[in-house]
Amino acid sequence: MRVVLLGPPGAGKGTQAARLAEALRVVHLSSGDILRAERAARTRLGQEAQRYMDSGALVPDEVVLEMMAGRMQSSDAEAGFVLDGFPRTIPQAEGLDRRLEAAHRPIDRVVNIEVSDEVVTPRLTGRWSCPKDGRVYHEQYSPPKSAGTCDICGTALVRRRDDEPSVVRQRLATYHAETKPLIDYYRRRGVLASVNGDGEIDVVFESIRAACRGSG
Ligand code: ADP
Ligand code: ADP
Repeated sequence: MRVVLLGPPGAGKGTQAARLAEALRVVHLSSGDILRAERAARTRLGQEAQRYMDSGALVPDEVVLEMMAGRMQSSDAEAGFVLDGFPRTIPQAEGLDRRLEAAHRPIDRVVNIEVSDEVVTPRLTGRWSCPKDGRVYHEQYSPPKSAGTCDICGTALVRRRDDEPSVVRQRLATYHAETKPLIDYYRRRGVLASVNGDGEIDVVFESIRAACRGSG
């Protein structure tokens, strides 16, 4: 099954995509995690992406499209995938559709996680994540079992530089201007389902699972 999770920064895409991918037995592909790994490895792509990410702007479409297309062609993505953070603009969605249609592997479902800017802001400023496996925590809403370390691998958790309040404001503005139009784009294609993202993580997960049943 091939699923896209849409929603503003802090909607819970990363949290829910990890669970959904596990439940569907497909890979979780997060464009943000892949870009951060490229940065950590100091590749040319990572270095190019850095200035956009640090200011809350989007990395150019062609760069992200090539990167994600490469990942989607790997053998571990044959059974399907859950995309998180990609596509994020209309040109990215069109490029993705062209590639998937040519491969006769269209998107089965796009789940839009609806949450207001007021709800996501404290989620982002309290977010901690594991630099090794990408797992996300929140100091209040979803704390690790032992403070400051990843439940799974014990690595010290870090705060993302772009979760600082001034960058969060810019990222939300970028979301409204560039990513929100994807809701209509996918609605017109008949694959969109919307869920309320302003609830407990488990409750939101059940809504997402329900939205994925009966498709694909
Ligand atoms: P996104 O990938 O959409 O930016 P994340 O999954 O990283 O969002 O979640 C952002 C932050 O909010 C994290 O700290 C996460 O633990 C927390 N979070 C995610 N879903 C919920 C929820 N339903 N209620 C409260 N906090 C949440
Ligand atoms: P969040 O879900 O919290 O917004 P991500 O981890 O998805 O954050 O993205 C972090 C940053 O990485 C974005 O602000 C942007 O600079 C870059 N990025 C991630 N995905 C894309 C994409 N599909 N297109 C362009 N830039 C992206």
